[in-house]
Amino acid sequence: MTATCQTRGAVAVITLDNPPVNGLGYDTRVAFARHLEAALADAAVKAIVVTGAGKAFSGGADIREFGSPKAVAEPNLLSLILALEASTKPVVAAVHGACMGGGLELALACHYRVAAPDAQIALPEVKLGLLPGAGGTQRLPRALGLEAALNMITSGSIVAAQKLAGTPLFDAIIDGELRDGALEFAAQLISKKQPPKRLRDVRVQHPNTEGFLMFARNTVDAVAGPYPAPRKCIEAVTAAATRPFDEGMAVERRLFQELLLTPESKALRHIFLGERAAARIPDIPDTTPTRPINAAAVIGAGTMGGGITMNFINAGIPVTLLEMKQEALDRGLETIRRNYGGAVRKGRMTEADVDARLKLITPVLEYGAIAQADIVIEAVFEDLTVKQAVFEKLDAVMRPGAILATNTSTLDVDRIAAFTRRPGDVVGTHFFSPANVMRLLEVVRGAKTAPDVLATVMKLGKTMKKIAVVAGVCDGFIGNRMLEQMVRQTGFLLEEGALPKQVDAAMEKFGFAMGPFRVGDLAGNDISWAIRKRRYVEKPLLKYSRIADRLCEQGRFGQKTGAGWYDYKPGDRTARPSAAVEQMIIEYSKEIGVARREISDAEIVDRIVYALVNEGAKILEEGIALRASDIDMVYLNGYGFPAYRGGPMLYADTVGLDVVVRRMKQFARNPHGDPSAWEPARSLARLAAAGKTFN
Ligand code: NAD
Repeated sequence: MTATCQTRGAVAVITLDNPPVNGLGYDTRVAFARHLEAALADAAVKAIVVTGAGKAFSGGADIREFGSPKAVAEPNLLSLILALEASTKPVVAAVHGACMGGGLELALACHYRVAAPDAQIALPEVKLGLLPGAGGTQRLPRALGLEAALNMITSGSIVAAQKLAGTPLFDAIIDGELRDGALEFAAQLISKKQPPKRLRDVRVQHPNTEGFLMFARNTVDAVAGPYPAPRKCIEAVTAAATRPFDEGMAVERRLFQELLLTPESKALRHIFLGERAAARIPDIPDTTPTRPINAAAVIGAGTMGGGITMNFINAGIPVTLLEMKQEALDRGLETIRRNYGGAVRKGRMTEADVDARLKLITPVLEYGAIAQADIVIEAVFEDLTVKQAVFEKLDAVMRPGAILATNTSTLDVDRIAAFTRRPGDVVGTHFFSPANVMRLLEVVRGAKTAPDVLATVMKLGKTMKKIAVVAGVCDGFIGNRMLEQMVRQTGFLLEEGALPKQVDAAMEKFGFAMGPFRVGDLAGNDISWAIRKRRYVEKPLLKYSRIADRLCEQGRFGQKTGAGWYDYKPGDRTARPSAAVEQMIIEYSKEIGVARREISDAEIVDRIVYALVNEGAKILEEGIALRASDIDMVYLNGYGFPAYRGGPMLYADTVGLDVVVRRMKQFARNPHGDPSAWEPARSLARLAAAGKTFN
């Protein structure tokens, strides 16, 4: 069912009924239009109430339809709204729960609106790089006034209906049963012979329209960054304030269509859908029962163990935190308390809140104390023999059915699972540092990981407000495996003629918050050095620039040692280009016989991003990632890839895969670096040849 209609006396009640939030997809619109037509034709019906079934009035348009023929197929949202507004019988919207986007636009076209106290409204289109395209920018300013409406439209934020009682937006807030209240309201309209009252007939009021709009434009210019939508929102609202209604509607339509085609909106919609898609695992149905997680244990109170513990207690799940020594426990707990300090200083938490959270942690030194936990996450040193000892111990003590998770970033989850007699209960939970802040969680599915274990951990990720993405077992999983290729390119770029400051500036201009060398200095160059040393043994044929090793041999590990790719002054994180490092790089080029050349910013960006794309394509064809959008979600949430570009795979799609492959072939002719890295992945070559895309 998508919409129903019942007649109560002289009132027809049309109910949107498309769970979960009464989205206004094609089928719902068809059903709604049919009921509306019937109600208008029925002489016994004198008024109409429009409402929603379940927990919402309507969450709005179905964004999967955007840009597809279904979105515009009649009856589309706009024609439905015009038909409602044109009704000669008064129409009352009865709003409860969420009333968002197209749902609010539908309500705005009704002649009267009543709301339940729990109703919440928003026009969130700007968050998808769009603007409300079915009259929202024209009718909301007429209902709420210029300032309040513009704030809602440019921010997309949610407002409680109760705050708007007494404005023309809501004629009444109904405390009791909403439906009864709305029927009563409609009955009064009939008895008082009240005619339809249309927002289109209202004039937008403001004492200084021009001045306010100018102020709004300046404000938005300062904060909108690369996104065009907020500016277009102002343009549309300007039309509402300065032009006749129908002209304003035409302006809104045109601006909406323009935004729909922008790469920024495509990226934001890709993220919206990609985040939801990441939760679905093709061979594990949504109905798979999950294991209850009411108590957790964390092994290791270091950098990661502390952050992971915070994720649990922030979600209200008690944690038993296990360490080898009391000092390590004390240090770990102190760090956790300090990490909450920021939230307290900003007024987001009180000291009492922090104490309540910390009370959820039970620090222990004995495995016996964690035996009853529903899940245990291991975050000890990255060393297989240490992990082996821990997992053998866990296997011995943990209750049957407990989930045994490892936070390893590089080790083989299947080998770790094999240290136990219950590999089905073992899974990788790869958090990113700082674990209490970063949204990404790679959930590593071992060969034997049980479906319900995977489903449980995915659900736990959601509880922790993370974007959980499934990855298969391989070296580096999705994110770090791709990162390695990117880092290799940054080294070759230095050898061939670039300097750290140029590479960083080019990547920051592309949209990364921090260039790769500044990231290295922040994370500690010694960490990647340790990985490279292992690589030199494991994969002796894999070519690496040795410049980064030279840097580390000088003890330049980054901010923590006061010097890395850049120089730092004590207590100051400002990266200052280092003459010594630049000299070292230039001499290194000479030493290996490379004539340094001018490297363009475009080459820097293409080499770094396409290195990610090519490895991403391999990850896809090997089934390590389930879908291209999962790779994008990893890079957006864990590696600072600019959101408005939608992730490396969508970016490659936008550039055109044939263009990407041509450029890679060009790079392969460069004798320096590693020409073999530019052999296009099979899937990339195939899609490019067929004129297709990853997404
Ligand atoms: P860390 O050195 O900060 O912390 C490790 C902690 O484990 C120490 O406090 C140590 O005392 C404790 N420990 C060691 N052996 C133990 C044992 N047998 N029993 C109990 N406690 C023990 O290390 P970290 O950076 O938190 O890394 C932990 C794990 O997380 C590693 O596998 C690492 O690869 C992974 N990881 C780290 C990062 C990162 O950025 N630091 C990111 C993702 C994953």
